[in-house]
Amino acid sequence: MNSKVHQGHKARKRFGQNFLHDDYIIDQIVNAIHPSDDFTMIEIGPGLGALTGPVCAHVSRLNVVELDRDLAARLATHPFLKDKLSIHQADAMKFDFGTLKEPGKKLKIFGNLPYNISTQLMFHLFEFAPLVEDMHFMLQKEVVNRLAAGPGSKAYGRLSVMAQYYCQVVPVLEVGPDAFRPAPKVESAVVKLLPYDTPPFPARDMACLSRVTADAFGQRRKTIRNSLQHLFRAEQLSELGLDPSTRPEQLTLDQYVTLANALAQQKE
Ligand code: SAM
Repeated sequence: MNSKVHQGHKARKRFGQNFLHDDYIIDQIVNAIHPSDDFTMIEIGPGLGALTGPVCAHVSRLNVVELDRDLAARLATHPFLKDKLSIHQADAMKFDFGTLKEPGKKLKIFGNLPYNISTQLMFHLFEFAPLVEDMHFMLQKEVVNRLAAGPGSKAYGRLSVMAQYYCQVVPVLEVGPDAFRPAPKVESAVVKLLPYDTPPFPARDMACLSRVTADAFGQRRKTIRNSLQHLFRAEQLSELGLDPSTRPEQLTLDQYVTLANALAQQKE
């Protein structure tokens, strides 16, 4: 069955609604999340509560951030869940997750994310990395591959560099379309993101890292001599130990940080 109506709710495509219904997969995800009152628990996009219910069985409070008013309202009157939920009817891409921080507790964030916004949402969430214990997300498998990819691979890009700057990236589980209603057209996967206490290669200015990765990967086929010529002369690249004829997908995270720090120094 691939009905768009699930538990009396018509799935809204614009909100990326594909509801999980496979109990085995749900169990695996909840085990990986390891819900606990030692952390401030946050779910993005609870929907009809496929993960919300099983997580609530382990904790006394769960924050949920849901954009769809109807779904937020349903959860607010849910007979078993309503007393444990703090419902934030809001857009997760604009939500300040720092406001949920409780004294002495780090954030644990999880969700089966709307695929149409997942990459942008990842970049927003990285900003909160210092407050976060871990994050578990169901994403398009292709996005998980990009998060985990290393230099030289086709999937390696700006998302890989930024994710790996902040977090250890651990793919957890692959999930086929049949686990959802309606079934998405793509394969899915669950990923665990573990923010570092201190990034292995600290950048002096995150805006500079964001800029060099955007400019380099914005022109993937060009050498860094060409794609970064407005920021560095070829001799400067060589002085930094980088071959100007390298292509962006060949540079490692620490090399991107080297570039970002050189850019920050130029600005100082
Ligand atoms: N967690 C549920 C499940 O596993 O069955 C629903 C997952 S569904 C893929 C994505 C959920 O995110 C939907 O409930 C959708 O309404 C919600 N959503 C979509 N865009 C959102 C946004 N910008 N901020 C917060 N929630 C959003």
